[in-house]
Amino acid sequence: MTKKILYVEDDLGNRLLVRHLLQEVGYTVVEAIDGLSGIRLAQEERPDLILMDINIPGMDGYETTTRLKSLPGLSDIPIIALTAMSRDGDRERALTAGCDGYLTKPLDADRLPKQIARFLNGFRETVADEEINIYLREYNQRLVDRLEQKIQELSRANQNLTHTDMMKSRFINMAAHELRTPLTALHGYMGLLSDKLGTEAKESTLEIISGANASIDRLRGIVQDMLDITRIETGTLQLKHSPLSLTLIFNKIKRDFYDVAKKRQQILSIAGADHIPMMWGDGERITQILRNLVSNAIKYTPDGGKIEIKAEIVSRSASSSQSEPEQLVKITVSDSGIGVAPDQQERIFESFYEVRVMDLHSTSKTGFMGGGAGLGLPIARGVAEAHGGSLWVESKDHDPEQCPGSKFYLILPIGTPQSQ
Ligand code: ADP
Repeated sequence: MTKKILYVEDDLGNRLLVRHLLQEVGYTVVEAIDGLSGIRLAQEERPDLILMDINIPGMDGYETTTRLKSLPGLSDIPIIALTAMSRDGDRERALTAGCDGYLTKPLDADRLPKQIARFLNGFRETVADEEINIYLREYNQRLVDRLEQKIQELSRANQNLTHTDMMKSRFINMAAHELRTPLTALHGYMGLLSDKLGTEAKESTLEIISGANASIDRLRGIVQDMLDITRIETGTLQLKHSPLSLTLIFNKIKRDFYDVAKKRQQILSIAGADHIPMMWGDGERITQILRNLVSNAIKYTPDGGKIEIKAEIVSRSASSSQSEPEQLVKITVSDSGIGVAPDQQERIFESFYEVRVMDLHSTSKTGFMGGGAGLGLPIARGVAEAHGGSLWVESKDHDPEQCPGSKFYLILPIGTPQSQ
C-alpha cells in the first residue's frame, strides 16, 4: 500500500517541490499551510509520516509537533522537522519538542526519498538526556512567553471590540435621535394636511395621506426599536411598574392583530390569562414583548396556520434564603410556522441577526417571511430580563415545507408593589 506523507509548510514553492519529489517515488502527499490545519488533516488522514516546517505562521512547527504527539492515535506517527533554521541547537530543539528527525533546507533532492524511507522503516534520532533537560527548560520558557504575548494580543483585541461595540451603540442612538426630530415634524404636518383638506378631499388624496401616515408610523417604529436596543445594551432601560392584568393585555393583542391574522387566514387564539392574578410590571413593555412575538409568529407562519398565546402559573424552586417557591407566569406563544433550527435558537436573540441572507431581506411587517431589522427578539428578551424574567425558543427544526412550528416561552415574575 502506498505510504501517505503529510507536509506542513506555508511556502508554495517548497510544497510543489517536495510533492513532486515524493510522488515521483510513489508516496501520496497531503499538504497543510499552517499548524492548525496540519493537526486537522493529521486527524482526518492518519498519515504514515509528517514533514514539519518549523517556521510557519500562527502555531509554529515546534508547538504543532508537541500538540500532535499528545493526541490519541497520532503520537506514534513520526514527525520530521524540515527547516532552513540552522542555529546551534536547532536539531535538539526540534527533537525536544517531539520531532523524531531533523532535515535541513535547501533539500537534497536525491537523498530526500531515502531519508524518508529510513524514518518510515523505524529510524529515530535522539538527544542525550542531559541535553533534553536544558532544551526543555528553554522550550517551556518560550511557550510561556508566547502565551503571555497571545493573551496580551487577545486582551487588546477584546478592548478594541468593546470600543467598537460602544461606538456602534452610540451611532445607533445618535442616528435614531437625529431621525426622530424630522419624523415627528413630518407626522405633525401630515396631521395638519389632513385637517386642512377635511372630509371633502378626494378619496384618492385621502388614500395617499393614509399611505404616507402608515410609512411614517413604520419609520417611527424602527427609530423606537433603535432607541430601545441601545437602552438595553447600555443597561439604561427604565421600566414604569404598575399593577397590570394579563387578560387586558391578551385581549388588546388579539384585537390589534385581528385584521392581519384574518387577512392571512390564520387562527389567533388566547388562553389562560383569566387564571393569572394581578401582576406588577411595565404593562406597555410587556405588551411590546408579546406584540413582537405575535407579529413574528404571523410572519413566519404560512397562510391558514395557527397561533396561540397561553398563560399559566409555574413555580421556581425556592433558593436557600426563601422558604416558599417563587410564583411565576409562563406565557407561551406557539405557531405552526417554519420553525427555528437548533443552531439558530440562541443567535436569533442577537441584535440585527437574521437567519436568512440579507439579499432576500424584505421588510413586510406581516407578509409571509417578511423580515425586519432583526431587533424584535433582542428587545423582547432585554425587556423580559429587565423584569427579572427570561425568553427563549424551542422548535424541532427550520423547515418551510413541513412547518414544524415554534414555541417562544416568556417567564415573568408576578411581581409586587415593591418590585418597582
Ligand atoms: P425580524 O425583524 O427580522 O423579524 P426578530 O428579532 O424579531 O427580527 O427575529 C429574528 C429572526 O428570528 C427572524 O429573522 C427569523 O428568522 C427568526 N424568527 C423569529 N420568530 C420566528 C418564528 N416565530 N418562527 C420562525 N422564525 C422566527
